[in-house]
Amino acid sequence: MPETSSQHPRRRSVPVPVGPVTIGGNHPIVVQSMTNTDTADDIRTVVQVAELARAGSEIVRLTVNNDEAAAAVPHIRERLDAMGLEVPLVGDFHFNGHKLLAKHPACAEALAKFRINPGNVGKGRRRDPQFAEMIEFACRYDKPVRIGVNWGSLDQDLLAAMMDENAALPRPLPPEQVMKQAVIASALQSAEKAEALGLPRERIVLSCKMSGVQDLIEVYRDLAARCDYALHLGLTEAGMGSKGIVASTAALAVLLQEGIGDTIRVSLTPEPDQPRTDEVVVAQQILQTMGLRAFTPMVTACPGCGRTTSTYFQALARDIQAHVQRRMPEWRRTYPGVENLTLAVMGCVVNGPGESRNADIGISLPGTGERPVAPVYVDGEKTVTLKGERIAEEFQAIVEDYIEDRFGQQRAGDR
Ligand code: SF4
Repeated sequence: MPETSSQHPRRRSVPVPVGPVTIGGNHPIVVQSMTNTDTADDIRTVVQVAELARAGSEIVRLTVNNDEAAAAVPHIRERLDAMGLEVPLVGDFHFNGHKLLAKHPACAEALAKFRINPGNVGKGRRRDPQFAEMIEFACRYDKPVRIGVNWGSLDQDLLAAMMDENAALPRPLPPEQVMKQAVIASALQSAEKAEALGLPRERIVLSCKMSGVQDLIEVYRDLAARCDYALHLGLTEAGMGSKGIVASTAALAVLLQEGIGDTIRVSLTPEPDQPRTDEVVVAQQILQTMGLRAFTPMVTACPGCGRTTSTYFQALARDIQAHVQRRMPEWRRTYPGVENLTLAVMGCVVNGPGESRNADIGISLPGTGERPVAPVYVDGEKTVTLKGERIAEEFQAIVEDYIEDRFGQQRAGDR
């Protein structure tokens, strides 16, 4: 099995190149996202793709639902290239993808991958030939394809046939079990057809999205055991706010811990005033907190308790986190490896010194009734004790110096 780390053996999968990014094999688990702009509105779509890419989305999918959207795709690609953003774009096709790809060759060229949903690629007799046309376009333009099954748009003919077969069994399975088997069968049978049509395995990614956490885990465990295609993980319709974050994390974490999943998307419904980029941040945080990838320095902060009755501790933890986020774009450019930095901001003497010593840099703030001083620990050693009104600023300066010393030297050594 390929390894992401000694604790996290990865399921073996066939690597699939998507533009400059590779999904599967030994490659890091890829973070991806999807726009919610009207793709035909190329300016707004470019702005949102750029936001998602800058937030860390390594692949961005956009819907290609009509002629206007298909015509806009090459312009979107050109603008992103002009901005120096090479993030690969995936076209999400439903119902009319075969027609759009035939009519808009520049769209097919500009996309790095096509997503095909076997449940709505076409109805009845039209389904197989339309699916075949999509695969032929993928072969012609040498593009990978995600065969993306979604239980909400499952191929109804396949489901009906499997339900009939099940009903004829001496001990039929419950209908929900048959539905899950149909989701997996739809993905595997479609992949088999795609290969028979000439699309190599190295151009196929599979997904079987469900909206229930336990259902998703069950389906992916089964799917992962039955094939070596690269897998795209995501809980569909995860929902809004903390519910969406928790449900996605619960489902994805179990599978990732078992080595299942080569790329992830967190399908959050944004709150009206929240940015689309939240889904990227959550996906990164899932991977980073599990120790599978590093994207940004990690700030460990204690939750606070009755020993931190003032808001000073929360404010400092928030300021440090904000400082890291604000500085990260530049740090990332200037200090390779800075994403592995760990910081601790602790509220009192109970766990503060211990946790701070374990981080690269830690600060232990005074709890209620403690002396108003804040010892700082660097690489496990107490170096200085801060006091007064400017603890936050002084601590940030220490962080900046540490990063320059450690990662600046690393950069010089790399030259
Ligand atoms: S470190 Fe101190 S302030 Fe923070 S939760 Fe523990 S006891 Fe409370």
